[in-house]
Amino acid sequence: MSHFHYIKGERPQFLGLEQKSESVSFFRYLMHYIYGANEPAIIRQAKNICDGIEAATTPEERQKKINQFKTLSSSKMTQSLPHALVVSHNASKNVMDFAYNVEGPRGARIAVGPCVCQIALKKYPSGVTEPEIKDITLFYGADIYNDLGAGYKEITADEAKQILDECHEKGYVHQALYCYNSGAGLFVMCNCDDQACGVIRGYNLSGAGTDKGPEICSRDETKCLGVDACGKCVERCRFHASSIVDGKVVFDQSKCMGCEVCVVTCKGNARSMQEREDYEFEDIMSKKLLLAGRYGYEELEVFA
Ligand code: SF4
Ligand code: SF4
Ligand code: SF4
Repeated sequence: MSHFHYIKGERPQFLGLEQKSESVSFFRYLMHYIYGANEPAIIRQAKNICDGIEAATTPEERQKKINQFKTLSSSKMTQSLPHALVVSHNASKNVMDFAYNVEGPRGARIAVGPCVCQIALKKYPSGVTEPEIKDITLFYGADIYNDLGAGYKEITADEAKQILDECHEKGYVHQALYCYNSGAGLFVMCNCDDQACGVIRGYNLSGAGTDKGPEICSRDETKCLGVDACGKCVERCRFHASSIVDGKVVFDQSKCMGCEVCVVTCKGNARSMQEREDYEFEDIMSKKLLLAGRYGYEELEVFA
């Protein structure tokens, strides 16, 4: 059952730049609680706009719908609501270790529950018949979704990492949802496809709603086995960075969001991740945290 349960000093929020956790304000907790309570309706609205973009019969009509999606996802009015940042598999696990171990106010640090997009749209991938348990809430987000009574349960960092492993294997994109306004509102690590997830579907149709993480994929063309022997990257990339042109696998690196989904299944071992030089969100989610243990960044400090 849903109930609002703010306890002053005991609801932790994440501070990405300083890599610490401190108490969240009543206002932010309330805003995100209201968002959480209305999430299925917002998801359905995003879906309707996406349907409208796809169904538009004129460029003007299409642009109008795209503008609607941009307003929903990134207008000034909604800047205090969650926005997504795509992170690699390695980075998503760093966030779990951090969230579970960082010192800060008392409260749940990690919880998991059913995918709200799948619930809202009743849309599942092939072979799936009920909402997958893959919506990982963090910090005060874990408290809010517990308050909302939406079937969430607290888990350890190791349990969260196991879910991330399974999602990565299925080709789901890890997205850290945080608040642009303050840079302090990380409260969910989502694991998404490009159909039920309104964020990724909307991004592919409008270019808004999610952002590039601190890593980027590169491909050694000489190692690529081609579409007949492999073609896995074309199938797996949710952002269409790989495609087949004249029977060849073409990779457009400018479309890469840095999710790492194509790397693990590349039969030719042609794909690898690199540090993105023009990463724009250092003040919200630092490379020191996300890239810890890679590219010469120190391993995560052991907290507590
Ligand atoms: S954003 Fe992703 S994991 Fe989160 S509710 Fe939507 S599809 Fe599920
Ligand atoms: S997954 Fe790797 S080997 Fe397979 S087509 Fe893509 S780049 Fe080539
Ligand atoms: S190219 Fe690979 S790493 Fe980049 S967005 Fe596509 S699947 Fe993710």
